[in-house]
Amino acid sequence: MIFNMQQKKEIASQAVNNVKNNDYIGYTAFFGKKDRHRTVLIPWFTDFLSPFIPAIAKLSGYNFVNCPKTSKTSADIGLKYGNNEVCYPATLVLGDLIAEIQSGKHDPETLAVGISQTGGQCRATNYIGMVKAGLKSAGYGNIPVIVVSLGGVFQNEQSGFKLPVFKILNISINGFFFGDALNQLFAFHVVREKEKGRSQQIFDNYMELATNIILKNKPKALLGLLEDAVKDYNSIEIYDREYEKVGLVGEIFVKYNNYGQAHITEWLRTKGMEVVTPSMIEFFMQTFVNQRENVKNGINRLSEITLKLLPFTYKLLQKRLSKFEKIMSKSRAYVPEENIYKIAEKAKEILSLSNQFGEGWMIAGDVASFATKGINRVVCVQPFGCIANHIVAKGIEKRLKKNYPTMNLLFLDIDGGMAEVNLHNRLEFLITE
Ligand code: SF4
Repeated sequence: MIFNMQQKKEIASQAVNNVKNNDYIGYTAFFGKKDRHRTVLIPWFTDFLSPFIPAIAKLSGYNFVNCPKTSKTSADIGLKYGNNEVCYPATLVLGDLIAEIQSGKHDPETLAVGISQTGGQCRATNYIGMVKAGLKSAGYGNIPVIVVSLGGVFQNEQSGFKLPVFKILNISINGFFFGDALNQLFAFHVVREKEKGRSQQIFDNYMELATNIILKNKPKALLGLLEDAVKDYNSIEIYDREYEKVGLVGEIFVKYNNYGQAHITEWLRTKGMEVVTPSMIEFFMQTFVNQRENVKNGINRLSEITLKLLPFTYKLLQKRLSKFEKIMSKSRAYVPEENIYKIAEKAKEILSLSNQFGEGWMIAGDVASFATKGINRVVCVQPFGCIANHIVAKGIEKRLKKNYPTMNLLFLDIDGGMAEVNLHNRLEFLITE
């Protein structure tokens, strides 16, 4: 609907009056102690991590349920109840949640909704407000919404939700490392397998086994499980030839969520390309670089203790990671995890490390990293409405091309209304050039 100037003025003055008259009512469904029994719906994120989240929540005393994998229904419902100017991932997660509530599988009276909050400069800090507004418009304004975060929580009252950080920290870290490793094994074998579907079977089996281990809170057992997974993957018959590689970088949700990225990874694999995606670990490890950079630039002031703890924590994580790496080194799929400080050094040649919104300097670092590994075809996926990633991705295209002239870069804008044929045409050019 298009409003003329007079109508716009009337709407604005009505809104001001509503606030003055205290007519505006915010979201009133809070998550208090009495709500701990509620089933908490969470949106689907990615195949190699999402199944672990309800298990970790169960250890914490909460009943989390994943929404089904993201689909066209999520996009349609998200658009219907969300603001169509938010970024595409925000639309999809809202759609996931409302679709599941509407499915009739749950009693809305016993439900809550969980959403992550990054606390950074992109919209992921404010998904909570959008989800509340969407739920209200769909008629579910009585469902409490909680922020699921190991860090700070902004703009939300959720006194009944507290994660026992020390209890779940070890298993969460190992779960992350395990999921990343299993994903690497899967991505290598799925294009090479002689028996179609075998890599997927192994992947599904180990995700289930890992979930059971997480439920028992046995972090070390995940190392043993990874050894078995490496053996199983090493035993499958594969075509022994060189495969062309395509690097995939970009916004975290569309990179790892199959529907969110319009299934381009699967499409590339049907064309015989091996798709290489940076690990999820590096996304979280970047915080060590960011903190150091922010202190250096005077953006952050950290206490003496935090300043000392940061390198100590980094070393602990690296030590833990090296245990997983040692097991992975026995696999033919193994590619060592690159040190985050080295990736940052490469990114620094392209842009300032103060660029920390969206994927920040990681996109430049990942492209540079691919170039040094001889991967010269890279797709960068950007969601519709993501200003952050347009700046730190498309905005550095010229410089990337200058520094890496043989690099073939394809920037793909992804949203619910794009034509698949157009997307595939552009990918076809990338892989045949
Ligand atoms: S990085 Fe972009 S797409 Fe992702 S949550 Fe932030 S604004 Fe949205």
